[in-house]
Amino acid sequence: MRGFFRNVPVRLWHSYHWQVQNRIRTKEELERYIKLTKEEKEGIEKTAGLYPMAITPYYLSLINPEDPQDPIRLQAVPRALEVDEKTQAHGEPDPFREEGAIPGLTHRYPDRALFTLTTFCAVYCRHCMRKRIFKEGERARTKEEIDLFVEYLKTHEEIREVLLSGGEPLSLSNEKLHYVLSRIRDVPHVEIIRIGTRLPVLAPQRFYDDELLDILEKHAPIWINTHFNHPREITEESATAVEKLLRRGMPVNNQTVLLKGINDDPDVMLRLMRELLRIKVRPVYLFHCDPVKGAIHFRTSVEKGLEIMEYLRGKVSGMGIPTYAVDLPGGKGKVPLSPSYVLDKEGDTYVFRSPFGGLVEYAIPHA
Ligand code: SF4
Repeated sequence: MRGFFRNVPVRLWHSYHWQVQNRIRTKEELERYIKLTKEEKEGIEKTAGLYPMAITPYYLSLINPEDPQDPIRLQAVPRALEVDEKTQAHGEPDPFREEGAIPGLTHRYPDRALFTLTTFCAVYCRHCMRKRIFKEGERARTKEEIDLFVEYLKTHEEIREVLLSGGEPLSLSNEKLHYVLSRIRDVPHVEIIRIGTRLPVLAPQRFYDDELLDILEKHAPIWINTHFNHPREITEESATAVEKLLRRGMPVNNQTVLLKGINDDPDVMLRLMRELLRIKVRPVYLFHCDPVKGAIHFRTSVEKGLEIMEYLRGKVSGMGIPTYAVDLPGGKGKVPLSPSYVLDKEGDTYVFRSPFGGLVEYAIPHA
């Protein structure tokens, strides 16, 4: 798995700080490892300052340098498509109107509040729904901003769940994370903290840090939401990161985004779901790609999503089948989509389409 970095001592390779300090940020650096296409060269130049590039050595090591269509590469290396006129003519920087009255806060559902802790990410994923924030530079919320958020929580007793997001929330120092989590735990009506982190995928070495795990465990119950998009992202390192979280009592759930050219293939998705179950990650959502400015080229059709859902049924156990959903713009909520299996109904008798093929008439009388 070490690919280009075989000569890096294991001690450094296993260090999250080394991974972050050695992120690949320029065209010249990336060209040392990969022969870039013309589109990628232009992409890196044209997206600079707007949608910057950063790739950890670990994530880069998963790329097949011979394949310009490599699914990891497509998620990490900018292409000129992101900023061409056609792509920029579609979507919005903030389709879900996340920006609220308090910096970083979105209070869309009554019982839940989202708080973005930083604009920093280990890798800037090209399909990111929050790619608008990356031009702000890499900064974490100040303690004053965190306090403002906590004051908001205190005055909203209907909030039972806090989702910490980013950027990458677990990129904060352990000291600051401890501060945020303990301040939230001072609010008695907040029962659950969820952390949306892509570090199990992009720099799993973050979870090799016992101090971090102690902090997370201390502020239970914490749920981890991660974001694997392709079976090749499941490695020995990512499985180790998940195992460490599970051993400390944190369930790990996954949200995949349906991405054209990356995972819009029934077999790839099936392999991903099977691999997630193998490492004990529950695939919860498959999201249709949001209408985000600069990422619209990753969108495929809803029909493709339904075809994939149909393919999964019967090939992996129910716990490996995510809910396919479209997040409605304007904060109108997530709509689950599923192929229809009920074709007809007469009285109490239904005509079902079997996932294994053929029609089944089934009478289901009820009280
Ligand atoms: S890690 Fe998450 S927030 Fe950061 S760029 Fe990737 S998808 Fe976006």
